[in-house]
Amino acid sequence: MIPTLYKSALHPREVRALFKLKLKGQQFIVPKESLEELVLKLDDKAFCCAALTKVSRSFAAVIQQLPEDLKNAVCAFYLVLRALDTIEDDMKFPQAEKLTLLRSFYEKSYDENFTLQNVGDQEDYRVLLAHYDKVVRFFKSLNSGYRDVIVEITKKMGNGMADFAENEVVSVDDYNLYCHYVAGLVGIGLSDLFFASGLENPELKNQHDLSNSMGLFLQKTNIIRDYHEDLFSDRTFWPKEIWGKYANELVFFTENPHAPKSLECLNEMVMNALHHLPDVIDYLSMLKNESVFRFAAIPQVMAIATLAAVFNNPKVFTGVVKVRKGLTARLMLYDLSLEDTLRYFKKYAGVFLRKSPTGSDIHRQLLTWSKEVNRKIKEN
Ligand code: CA
Repeated sequence: MIPTLYKSALHPREVRALFKLKLKGQQFIVPKESLEELVLKLDDKAFCCAALTKVSRSFAAVIQQLPEDLKNAVCAFYLVLRALDTIEDDMKFPQAEKLTLLRSFYEKSYDENFTLQNVGDQEDYRVLLAHYDKVVRFFKSLNSGYRDVIVEITKKMGNGMADFAENEVVSVDDYNLYCHYVAGLVGIGLSDLFFASGLENPELKNQHDLSNSMGLFLQKTNIIRDYHEDLFSDRTFWPKEIWGKYANELVFFTENPHAPKSLECLNEMVMNALHHLPDVIDYLSMLKNESVFRFAAIPQVMAIATLAAVFNNPKVFTGVVKVRKGLTARLMLYDLSLEDTLRYFKKYAGVFLRKSPTGSDIHRQLLTWSKEVNRKIKEN
């Protein structure tokens, strides 16, 4: 999930098609005007809703699944974390100031005087931070149960991001910890927001490991898919403990996309992500509310579809691999159930097996994994 915050698992073209869909009789539209123009026209809440469609695209679409009250809380949660992520990702921000701000950002949630000028690598992000007072007022309109969750998660995430601004992701433990800070905490926060809404299984609040896995599955998918894009920015997230077994430099893979070592490395990265799927199944099985279920399940189905597309695919090393068009639209249009979701997981588990050479090490690992996944599916 996110930071690549909930950085979309979707391709923009697919997302544009998606926006044309009518959802539950309600037209979901991305405003044509720029966010800067909308600042003048819209009240705080309407601005925040518009900002969400501008900064997240796919997330703004799935959030429409939620009941009004919870939707507002999740929208505010997303925008606060998007602002935090924008600060993390701004490589021109002086380091010492950045660390202080990341660690104290949660305190700004109640500060209507706080805005930041010229921070962010995209125009919409810069506008969001320049008018952060609007987010603050929207946040303050939420009930205290929601507000406390958002502040708590923002505090933990900001501190984690600051730790990693000074230290690279090297070991698999670092990789899991970084993904916990930027995505696992989102999963935990969402579970707490679901709990605060009173709509969900109260047991969710205690399921931190499962909630964390929900975030890690999405985040690792994005990190694997974004190898090429991230290689040419200042940061990389693939852990050296994995890629160092296959190459001396991470750039080797883009120079040798078809080399067996490149594909073996990619497949090990995918396998590492797939290990979270049994937890994802357990988590989704616990959900009681249909709209919460769809909100939680759709990104997970998109993630496994993305992993299936990137698995053993040299194109990951030279560009962006696109997920099958239309899948998102289908997931959004129909009332996705647990049964449908498990059917998708089973189908994709078969895809990984077919795409791996029989007798290879990765094939053996996938066989063990798919047995575990199928056992989980039968249980639920
Ligand atoms: Ca980031």
